[in-house]
Amino acid sequence: MALLGAHCQIRDDAAPGLLTPASGPKAPGRLGREDARNLRDRTLLVRAGLLVTGSQEIENGWVLSRDGFIAEVGSGQHPPADEIVDEPNCVAMPGLVNAHDHMYQWATRGYVPDGTLFEWLRALYPVWARMDAETVRVAARAAMARLLLCGCTLSTDHHYVFPHGRQGIFEALVGVASELGLRFHPCRGSMSLGESKGGLPPDSVVEDEEAILAHTEAMIGRYHDPKPGSMCRVVVAPCSPFSVTPELMRDSAALARRHGVRLHTHLAETLDEERFCIERFGRRPVELMEDLGWTGDDVWYAHGIHLNDAEVDRIAEVKTGIAHCPSSNMRLGAGACRVEDLLRAGARVGLGVDGSASNEDANLAMEAHQALLLARVRNASPSALDARTAWRLATEGGADCLGRDDCGSLEPGKCADIACFRIDDLAHAGMKDAIAGLALAPPSRAQTVVVNGRVVVRDGRLLTGDEDQIAREIAATSARLAG
Ligand SMILES: [Zn+2]
Repeated sequence: MALLGAHCQIRDDAAPGLLTPASGPKAPGRLGREDARNLRDRTLLVRAGLLVTGSQEIENGWVLSRDGFIAEVGSGQHPPADEIVDEPNCVAMPGLVNAHDHMYQWATRGYVPDGTLFEWLRALYPVWARMDAETVRVAARAAMARLLLCGCTLSTDHHYVFPHGRQGIFEALVGVASELGLRFHPCRGSMSLGESKGGLPPDSVVEDEEAILAHTEAMIGRYHDPKPGSMCRVVVAPCSPFSVTPELMRDSAALARRHGVRLHTHLAETLDEERFCIERFGRRPVELMEDLGWTGDDVWYAHGIHLNDAEVDRIAEVKTGIAHCPSSNMRLGAGACRVEDLLRAGARVGLGVDGSASNEDANLAMEAHQALLLARVRNASPSALDARTAWRLATEGGADCLGRDDCGSLEPGKCADIACFRIDDLAHAGMKDAIAGLALAPPSRAQTVVVNGRVVVRDGRLLTGDEDQIAREIAATSARLAG
């Protein structure tokens, strides 16, 4: 990527030529040592017709970033900057945060279009058992490209399929995030309770528990960066109560707390899961997790749908987060999360796209839209969830789940992660309330996306990868995996 010289003011009309994706031998998006040095003190200014900081809505607002962090926020006259992105026809908001995903699933979209979670899982486990690091790399590249193009700047990924003898899968995920410029919280997931021991997954995709814990610890040592502004933090994440043993849950919690990293798992997603927990352990899912040390402000669950009133209050009380994944929940007919009850109780709630095999997309703006509509259906009330709350879930709420007090809003000192959405396109032009409009009619892609003070999407195009090539590669990989 061509870099702009220090203190060289580049206006919007001059920038595209300098910001086109790299061509030639250098991998797109990868920064050399010299590049990184030049970027260190570089300033970027993003100006938009409407700037939403999280707490404020500012007309003709701007954000100045330096060295990946926000230096100043204002409106009207702006300070000089090395690079200026001027989007008068956009709403700029904090970059969206994806609190739950399984990126490898991009290679298996469209399977079991009408099945329940357990039917869908049983059909897909044998396909996933054929994956290797290259499959995961290609799938994750597609998933992350789509996330970035839709305004997501920080994402987790819950990867729990490590077929026997396949090396380098976790490393592939971390590598792709770095290549594309996405802030990333990879979860070292796991499955250890195979069919022969009463679990749901076939024995071919479960791992030995000691090996899981050893590999998880190695990945924390290699990739986890706890510093403010971190681009990579590792999470410990056994898959679900029906695919790991209680012992692994307990040992994983101890491991995570020893290293000060977060914990994530699926919980209370379906009534099948609830029945499984009651029959096998004599406990409801939340009770089981409480027994195993899986509550607290360093834990967040995916879904949290089938919660009773006491469990809603308890989750709020212990500050455990919930990643609400409305598209996936509707696709699998799993039920509807009690988002407004959780919020009323004071719980942390974020949004996730979930794996693309139960969503078929990775558009977080769409999840804000779906969350809003689903809450209104569940409550039979149009005031159940308003647009601004839906956007807060997609930004601050997700950052809270992921433990990022440096992300999720646009304020001095926070990470310079910004998403700009057009409001002059056919879908939004003339809409009375732009912020409500973007939730009621979600954009299919962002206009500009900045991660860590660096423009990664411009004019709706990914600068750190070739979208058409990524599409060709995922088509070939999906066909190969289907056999
Ligand atoms: Zn999931």
